[in-house]
Amino acid sequence: MIVLKTSRELVKLREAGRISALALHTVGKAIEPGVTTYELDRVARQFIEKCGARPNFLGYGGFPGSACISVNNVVIHGIPSKKIVLKQGDIVSIDIGAEVDGYNGDNAYTFPCGDISAQAQALLDATRESLYEGIAMAKPGNRIGDIGSAVQRYVEARGYSVVREFVGHGVGTSLHEDPSVPNYGKPGRGVRLMPGMVIAIEPMINAGTKSVRVLEDGWTTVTADGSLSAHFEHTVAITPDGPVILTRPE
Ligand code: MG
Repeated sequence: MIVLKTSRELVKLREAGRISALALHTVGKAIEPGVTTYELDRVARQFIEKCGARPNFLGYGGFPGSACISVNNVVIHGIPSKKIVLKQGDIVSIDIGAEVDGYNGDNAYTFPCGDISAQAQALLDATRESLYEGIAMAKPGNRIGDIGSAVQRYVEARGYSVVREFVGHGVGTSLHEDPSVPNYGKPGRGVRLMPGMVIAIEPMINAGTKSVRVLEDGWTTVTADGSLSAHFEHTVAITPDGPVILTRPE
């Protein structure tokens, strides 16, 4: 069931989005060679709690961290660990959200750790740009398939592939609500977008094959061929005036 949000709820979702964006920015600034993903997770949790909010990933489905931290060939759901030490040239996907007053924010960004290869930078650029291609389609009258097809077209034209097993989602009083928001699809297909819908658009884009597999920990999702993967996400409100990004720090 898709829940349309009232303007009062959108105010709350904007605040949750704002804290989520600030948390993402704060963790991003702490990324440098020698730091463990465990330390980054502590930065995430301390920041969100200092804001009077709750890290909404912590304990979700049993997830042990406040952020998913996914390095290089890890697509999503990387578990923060003292054993994972960042090194120069890594790409580090941070997926993080905050719940404020019962409403959720969700956002992700893939950061470079120091200097990275031109190939890695190109993947980051294409994935980030594909997110904005998708967001541009998030307006009343369009359909879910318009978002996914815009993302897919953009990245496949650059030789990258779209992960199928994980998709974007509605956001509200739950972190994950209907509808599903795939990063692939056909224009004009799927659920019609209406004002009051709030969705997380989150392309997960691989440099190689689209296939992924989940490691024995039940969370960590890696590319099947070991290639790099990037992940960018915003929570977006669909309004009569078009898409409004809620996960902005200001
Ligand atoms: Mg999400």
